[in-house]
Amino acid sequence: CGIVAYLGNAQAKEILLSGLARLEYRGYDSAGLAVMQETAGAGAVVEPSGEQSNEAKRRRTSSGHRISVVKRAGKVSDQSAACSTDNSAGTLGIAHTRWATHGPPNDKNAHPHISHDGLLAVVHNGIVENFTSLRAELQRKGYVMRSDTDTELIAHLITDVRKAKWMPLEEAVRQALSQVTGAFGLAVIAADEPDLLIGARRGSPLILGIGADEYILASDASAVVERTKQVSYLNDGEMVVIHRTEGYQIKTLENVKLIREVQLLELS
Ligand code: GLU
Repeated sequence: CGIVAYLGNAQAKEILLSGLARLEYRGYDSAGLAVMQETAGAGAVVEPSGEQSNEAKRRRTSSGHRISVVKRAGKVSDQSAACSTDNSAGTLGIAHTRWATHGPPNDKNAHPHISHDGLLAVVHNGIVENFTSLRAELQRKGYVMRSDTDTELIAHLITDVRKAKWMPLEEAVRQALSQVTGAFGLAVIAADEPDLLIGARRGSPLILGIGADEYILASDASAVVERTKQVSYLNDGEMVVIHRTEGYQIKTLENVKLIREVQLLELS
């Protein structure tokens, strides 16, 4: 239903929560966010949805980062309450308001969805149409489903593509999405590439806000306008690769680099 993602110098959590609040008017049944944390000195991570949380909590990566997830059925204000007891400090994160299509509204089906190794997190708007065959194929490969969603499949698919041969997240996202039929607007982060935010769309909107040393990627301009009025729109079949120090690049899902004008958002 709604996506907001942040990469910059400010604390992501507050910005994501206020972006989610601005997306509330569209309606939703669940909400959640994932923040990239540095592991050195990090304390307890609150993650209410059981099993997958423990894996995420324990996860230590060579880059010294891990992804902290807070998500649940219910209102954004419930997230705020959960987040206030959680120390998810970090300047990169993704967040989502869900309108369930696959699986009932509950904590485990809320986004973000993380891979088994806790390494990557995905938020997704839309519907994976080859859900049944993809799920069967991933299960055959040994992936155990922890939710009823189509979105979880995207997390496993990216992981699966990536692990065959170590592959940059960007390339893995591209290859994974080439196997997905249906609509998506999505955002992905990975703990072993902790300065990278990837967005992609097909049939579901995504807008990139370009601020002063920060980026905010959202499904709706209302979640961007608070931080910046400079925006670029992604078209169908496009992705954006946003790097903390290297800047951003919009490309087609076939990896053709594009030049996209920056526009001024006419929105109060
Ligand atoms: N199909 C996904 C789900 O059921 C995303 C729905 C949405 O767009 O919020 O979780």
